[in-house]
Amino acid sequence: MSEPSSIPFIDLQAQRAHLGGRVEAAIARVLDHGQFIMGPEVAAFEKELAAFAGARHAVSCANGTEALVMALMAWGIGPGDAVLVPSFSFIATAECAVLVGATPVFVDVLPDTFDIDAAGLDGAVAAAQEMGLHPRAVIPVDLFGLPADHAAVAAAAARHGLLVLDDAAQGFGGSLNNRRVGAFGHAAATSFFPAKPLGCYGDGGAVLTDDDDLAELLKSIRVHGKGADKYDNVRPGLNARLDTLQAAVLLEKLAVFPEELEARQRVAERYTAALADCAETPAGRAGARSAWAQYTILVDDREKVMAACKAAGVPTQVYYPIPMHAQTGYARYPQAPGGCPVSESLARRVLSLPMHPYLAADDQDRVIAAVRGAL
Ligand SMILES: *Cc1c(COP(=O)(O)O)cnc(C)c1O
Repeated sequence: MSEPSSIPFIDLQAQRAHLGGRVEAAIARVLDHGQFIMGPEVAAFEKELAAFAGARHAVSCANGTEALVMALMAWGIGPGDAVLVPSFSFIATAECAVLVGATPVFVDVLPDTFDIDAAGLDGAVAAAQEMGLHPRAVIPVDLFGLPADHAAVAAAAARHGLLVLDDAAQGFGGSLNNRRVGAFGHAAATSFFPAKPLGCYGDGGAVLTDDDDLAELLKSIRVHGKGADKYDNVRPGLNARLDTLQAAVLLEKLAVFPEELEARQRVAERYTAALADCAETPAGRAGARSAWAQYTILVDDREKVMAACKAAGVPTQVYYPIPMHAQTGYARYPQAPGGCPVSESLARRVLSLPMHPYLAADDQDRVIAAVRGAL
């Protein structure tokens, strides 16, 4: 018998087919008008993105990492400052602090929902102060799409005068108590990397905020710290603009995003109904809707499950095999008291299954059968 053909982990071609030529037409319009830098699609997309999330401003930029960096730069966070981050996330969550010269302080995450444990923030603040650092900000992450415990983070942040920067790269599209991700924290940073729930055809990102002054600062920072004119440089900045072509693609994808979120939810519900008796399926949060950037289960014998899935043509991924505090380039940064044992346990047990809005029912069945067969 020949090997079964593999199903895709994320199927961008199915999405392209669903959009029926609208993306190609949008790209052709940009090629015709030729305004590749800050063309009209950029402002149009920012307006729609802000409206979607319920934030006053969306400032687009080159990628999600730059979005995080721009927010920290705008707040003047730098050497001598501490930025509290969960230790279980994509590396950019800690990298942004290092890039502005600040010190990331790793805080462990919750064992069921994988977001920063707000109960660890008081200890992290005290540890940073003992080292002579000024705690300035905390970056909760809506990991795998589930909104973080934003109320608990906001309460701890208020106690210590911390700014809250939501890393919404995976959670954009989700909601908590009928408020969309993007509207939590003093600012939220998101990414339009192709594999994110709302992705473009290259790199892209945005910062969302209700703060008018912050939005103006971000617009300056993304174009070399421009003042009234682009050759009047009032501060050091970056070249961190979103390409017009990507904004044009994103306008088309944002139009179908709500229905795609519904489709992701249906896939997740089907997985959970079929797998809950044999694996630890994703925990929810009261009042929360996940954007389902990933569907991630916890298993003990991960190697065995991965091998069985591979043999059945079912791709799996491990996000993330090494928590940030244990990464070679980051092990020298401080941790909150008690370390990050939950992050270390998750790194050994997480397994992400194929998840996208166009995953056909029979492919879902193949995923379910492969995982069940291994367990
Ligand atoms: C993808 C991601 C980022 C970075 O986004 P890029 O656009 O790739 O720079 C930051 N944080 C998290 C949690 C992410 O998943």
